[in-house]
Amino acid sequence: MIKEKIQQLAKEIFNDVVANRRHLHANPELSFHEQETSAFVARKLDELGIEYQKMADTGLVALIKGDKPGDQIVALRGDMDALPILEANDVPYKSKNEGVMHACGHDVHTSSLLGVAKILTEIKSEFGGTVKFIFQPAEEKLPGGASLMIKEGVLENPKPSAVIGQHVMPLIDAGKVGFRAGKYMASTDELYVTVKGKGGHGAQPQQNIDPVIITAHILTALQQVISRFADPKSPSVLSFGKVIANGATNVIPNEVYLEGTFRTMDEQWRAEAHVKMKKMAEGIAESMGGSCDFNIMKGYPFLINEEKLTAQVRGFAEDFLGKENVLDLDIWMAAEDFAYYSQVADSCFYRLGTRNEARGITSSVHTPTFDVEESALEQSVGLMAYIAVKQLGN
Ligand SMILES: [Zn+2]
Ligand SMILES: [Zn+2]
Repeated sequence: MIKEKIQQLAKEIFNDVVANRRHLHANPELSFHEQETSAFVARKLDELGIEYQKMADTGLVALIKGDKPGDQIVALRGDMDALPILEANDVPYKSKNEGVMHACGHDVHTSSLLGVAKILTEIKSEFGGTVKFIFQPAEEKLPGGASLMIKEGVLENPKPSAVIGQHVMPLIDAGKVGFRAGKYMASTDELYVTVKGKGGHGAQPQQNIDPVIITAHILTALQQVISRFADPKSPSVLSFGKVIANGATNVIPNEVYLEGTFRTMDEQWRAEAHVKMKKMAEGIAESMGGSCDFNIMKGYPFLINEEKLTAQVRGFAEDFLGKENVLDLDIWMAAEDFAYYSQVADSCFYRLGTRNEARGITSSVHTPTFDVEESALEQSVGLMAYIAVKQLGN
């Protein structure tokens, strides 16, 4: 029975997986700078006798082919980069690279994928088909390692019929996983706006063009793009978190600088919204005598979990962990560069529970106190290996 075998192996290699996770956690590297992490992964693959190819500078791609007949190919993805955060946890594996921290669990994803490679190497004689391992750099930073690896052909030669990824989630208890079929995470675009007027004495507005008032109108009007133009059935969010009008009580500034984020889940609407927002902001500024530079930096696309594949993978998870340990996820308006795979291949991105309230492991990702309940690594590795083997038709 392949399930029991995988469960047994996941237990056996658990300490190794934890050690790898701790090594990666203690030695985090920022996006596009994962040299040591990449070398570590390469070393571990060498130890397993798995050939790999370098891609997107620090990324690695490896294949494990089962000995039984089978021509299906499934890809598993793990990201490797850390964040510019100063770790506040007092743990033996605390970051040694001050100011850099694995605060998004990518250490878990990378060590898990290595664990899956170990298990699949051990049971090679018992399955057919090929598993493609994608160790991906730079999830946290535009343009995203996923987009670069796809450009360099990670989804070709051989072409996988499915791409599967997992991500830690501190909202879900360790031992459980979460799925959502269909649209799951948002596209994210960054907005950089300068509203220009003509500064001067606050007592003489008639001689100036006040960019603060223009900005007030623009900020309010832009919300109409969400409330009046967007399809209410599909979510959109527009938030401006930075508004700088560097005048004084009696000084009207020359310009106001804004930064914001626009998120949605429909590529056609996303493009239309870009045009509408820019036109509206420029029009308002112009009508009030000023001008507006409205710049949009396009981020990741939205992430869609292919319905049929996700139902299948979810079924494998229920089989492996028990139905009671598989939860439904809500839509999540954050972004993730796994979305790039989901735009070009049937994909499934699920969540691995890493919470342990009793031990105080509850902090959100991207915070200085983020950590994971490491017992989750056993499910993480076992489940992913099981999903891969089952998805290949074994
Ligand atoms: Zn993150
Ligand atoms: Zn992440």
